[in-house]
Amino acid sequence: MTLGILGGTFDPPHIGHLMLAEEARLALSLGQVLFVPAGDPWRKAGRELSPREDRLAMVRLAVGDDPHYAVSTLELDRSGPSYTADTIAELRDQFGLETEFFFIMGADSLADFPHWREPLRILELARLAVAERPEPGDAPFGEALAEELAGALRQGVVWLRMPLVAISASAVRERVRRGLSIRYWVPPVVEEYIRQHGLYVGG
Ligand code: ATP
Repeated sequence: MTLGILGGTFDPPHIGHLMLAEEARLALSLGQVLFVPAGDPWRKAGRELSPREDRLAMVRLAVGDDPHYAVSTLELDRSGPSYTADTIAELRDQFGLETEFFFIMGADSLADFPHWREPLRILELARLAVAERPEPGDAPFGEALAEELAGALRQGVVWLRMPLVAISASAVRERVRRGLSIRYWVPPVVEEYIRQHGLYVGG
């Protein structure tokens, strides 16, 4: 089988994440897409993050009961920084060698990818399924890459075709903070959760 893995902070999950997951699922005929909320997203260190229980609850609500999607607490259950290489290695143990992995991401994450821990190990374990993202400065790659990593990326990246979705979790948080509507930016159940729990209002 083929498995898509969508890691993120999901603070909150929004329509961009769901479109990304669905486009990847259809384009790559994925058996399932696993949403993996980060416990400690070390590449976003220094940024205030909603409690993990809230992020997990919102991802579960966003995914709903669609059997094509599942949520993994693997990174939330682990202490220390959430390294994707460790996550995929754990999933490899869980799913076995016959499962083909695609790690799904937006182009901003691909641009950052060379700075992740053990990028070559990640590319040994999974291919990257990448969607364009309409944000300035996210053209991969701003820097010269080591030859080995550049070669592995040439082999290991699959580009997804999806409409550009100019929605980010930061923009959703900002809109809530400013009292603006987030209707249609996030699924209704997530909107309701954010309202009920008073997320993103302060600051
Ligand atoms: P923030 O604004 O808080 O940094 P985010 O919207 O980028 O958050 P993440 O949870 O960090 O959301 O994203 C998880 C993954 O989903 C990343 O690989 C990111 O590139 C991708 N992604 C998020 N939003 C979109 C989008 N609108 N289009 C394509 N990919 C997206």
